[in-house]
Amino acid sequence: MLSNNTDTQPWRWAHNYTQLPEPLYSLLPPEPVPSPMLLLFNGVLAQQLGLGALLNDSDTTAQWLGGKQVPPGANPLAQAYAGHQFGHFTMLGDGRAILLGEHISPSGQMLDIQLKGSGRTPYSRQGDGRATLSAMLREYLISEAMYGLGIPTSRSLAVVLTGDGVRRERIQHGAVLTRVAASHLRVGTFEYARRFTPITVLEKLLQYAIERHYPSMATHENPALGFLEAVMERQLALITDWMRVGFIHGVMNTDNMTISGETIDYGPCAFMNTYHPGTVFSSIDTQGRYAFGNQPPIAQWNIARLAEALLPLIHPNAEEAIKLAQTLIERFPSRYDQQWLAMMGKKLGFAAPTPEDRTLMVDLLALMQTQQMDYTNTFLYLQTGQSPDKQTEEACQTPDFQAWQTRWVQQIGGEEQKKTAQNLMQAYNPAYIPRNHLVEQALLSATEEQDLKPFQTLVQLVSKPYEEQKGMEIYQTPPPQGDQDYRTFCGT
Ligand code: AMP
Ligand code: MG
Repeated sequence: MLSNNTDTQPWRWAHNYTQLPEPLYSLLPPEPVPSPMLLLFNGVLAQQLGLGALLNDSDTTAQWLGGKQVPPGANPLAQAYAGHQFGHFTMLGDGRAILLGEHISPSGQMLDIQLKGSGRTPYSRQGDGRATLSAMLREYLISEAMYGLGIPTSRSLAVVLTGDGVRRERIQHGAVLTRVAASHLRVGTFEYARRFTPITVLEKLLQYAIERHYPSMATHENPALGFLEAVMERQLALITDWMRVGFIHGVMNTDNMTISGETIDYGPCAFMNTYHPGTVFSSIDTQGRYAFGNQPPIAQWNIARLAEALLPLIHPNAEEAIKLAQTLIERFPSRYDQQWLAMMGKKLGFAAPTPEDRTLMVDLLALMQTQQMDYTNTFLYLQTGQSPDKQTEEACQTPDFQAWQTRWVQQIGGEEQKKTAQNLMQAYNPAYIPRNHLVEQALLSATEEQDLKPFQTLVQLVSKPYEEQKGMEIYQTPPPQGDQDYRTFCGT
């Protein structure tokens, strides 16, 4: 099934999604664009993928990754899926994305190569199928930051300017992002198969997902249930990581939750500065459904939607199937609690945190909330003895915080253990996150002044977020007025 790898083109396509029944996708090429130009190219990622040769001919690469020409051997398609958006079930699908195919990397990994912003498809509804340069640069930046943080994520290979304008509130530059992911299977892919296709399609989809992401489940006594548990575990780990770094996805609809456990679909996402569990930046999330602190229960809710889609494959008797799925999903909160304790433990330098340490952690968060402390910098203060921002530094000197700190030092084993604890903490507490005001500045420079330098500096910095670099303090400070009025947008 592999197409030939020649010297002239580096692609090694597997095309196994096209082996699945047709209701799961529509075969079609990207809509051509007038004059594609390669604006950004992730050389390091390209090397890992065995696609380094793409840089030898950037014109051809721009044609391929801008959607003007289909790369040799590719068999492009748009995937069908549905999803619960803010709790409501809707038919969706790739409305502005095209899967070129599954590429095999030199290490044997199979990865989806997808163009985002590549034109209309049968699933576009009222949309134009396009994406703005600003939104695609934003996805590139945040996904690479997540990768740097060590959090499972789709990656960004390239941004191609289309040469066309995109109509939003005003006309903006259009762009196509090349996204690389373990796969683009979503909870919503299963919801779609369950609601709109025969059960044989659902069976084939499950078999495919197991083979691709959870091969050990193929021999499980109940593969559908084993698969559900495996997806739940990956999502538990992922959400715990988000909570570790203050990441707010912003639109955790079931169509944006992957089966692989990677973060995907960077729309209105943002990183939290001042700690508050109710933090929401997305302009459409008026109820705070996807607020920072709501992410774990929402992940559980989404897994319950996956379970519903899988019910007929879990057990032929509906009641029995519900019982089995429910027993599993009810374990989510306690599993999350265990993982959260371990994660917070690492952020605070505990090798094996106890339930007593949990109280200490909860008290810290309460202090951070009442004193409006920066989430990232509070942990940096504990780790290094200094906070890069003044407000957090001052809050760390208050009697309440100092009293808390005394308890912390006691519980990690006293002053003599502090250094060991601080060394442990370094791998879990980033020095740099893509702070909202800096992201916006970098995007403005790139789109309004054609100056990519601030964007590239930020990408470089957040790609190595645990290494403090001299002279970069400005990247560690939240905006002086806070970011209470910061708003992010979907579908830009
Ligand atoms: P998102 O909010 O990016 O996860 O997108 C939700 C759904 O809307 C998906 O089915 C997208 O393909 C679709 N969509 C978003 N933007 C556009 C657009 N400009 N044109 C067509 N479909 C879109
Ligand atoms: Mg989406």
